[in-house]
Amino acid sequence: MGRAPAAERGTLTVLGCDGSYPGPGGAGSGYLVEVAGVAVWLDAGPGTFANLQLVSNPGAVDAVILSHEHPDHWSDVDSYAVWLRERGPARPVPVYAPPGLRERSYFGEDPVFDWHEVEPSQRIALGPRGDSGTPGGGAHRGDGAHSGDRGAGAHGGGGAHRGGDGILCSFSATDHGPPTLAVRLDVSGCTGPDPVGSLAYSADTGPGWAPEELGPGIELLLCEATYTRDHEGEARHLSGRQAGRAASSAGVGRLVLTHRRPSIAEGALVAEADEAFGRPVHLAAPGRVFEW
Ligand SMILES: [Zn+2]
Repeated sequence: MGRAPAAERGTLTVLGCDGSYPGPGGAGSGYLVEVAGVAVWLDAGPGTFANLQLVSNPGAVDAVILSHEHPDHWSDVDSYAVWLRERGPARPVPVYAPPGLRERSYFGEDPVFDWHEVEPSQRIALGPRGDSGTPGGGAHRGDGAHSGDRGAGAHGGGGAHRGGDGILCSFSATDHGPPTLAVRLDVSGCTGPDPVGSLAYSADTGPGWAPEELGPGIELLLCEATYTRDHEGEARHLSGRQAGRAASSAGVGRLVLTHRRPSIAEGALVAEADEAFGRPVHLAAPGRVFEW
């Protein structure tokens, strides 16, 4: 696994992408998103904390966003808590999650974390920290519009992005059972001649959710595709075909498939998604880096 490049554009580094349970040597859902000097750990499934340490300093994570309470998407946040405690007192790391997840964590009341319940209508502005190794402090609730109170931590970090000054996160509820949040990340104030696009993550969902619910102009869609079309309807998940259709309808720029159940053949999944999307799709794999 290589280190993510310090690119001008945003990067999405896959920490784990196995659907529902990790396959041999694999990891559950988890991604490191870096842009505008902000590092966000998006979902923390089993095995993703180990892989995070291969590509980044976990102390440099500015915020954690957890999509829902199924353990293949969050259980390693508890391992992260132990790592943070071992390092000694520090500012808490903000953790954003739908209602109910905090209560499932062993560290729901621990001062290493600053938990925030997120509703789909919320928008959250995340800023970089002003120094390294001091978790937390860069994240503040937005005000519901495409601007937010980023507070004092928003502008102090290094690595500021060309034309950007933080990340704006918006959410929508997916079709999955427990409260589940799809998330869209935009670079705040990025209005230059070559602005960074938008990244969207479907989290887990059935076909009752569409990427359009996160708004137009999605450049890179990280979309779940748990199984192939012959399994459609078995659970509130998407097939490769359904993911391809959804991405095509939403007019996204690029489609990255993730959350493939380990028992599902990679080639068949990609082939049906290619056909439905109308263009080649990409497949997530641990250590793979996508620019956006
Ligand atoms: Zn899942």
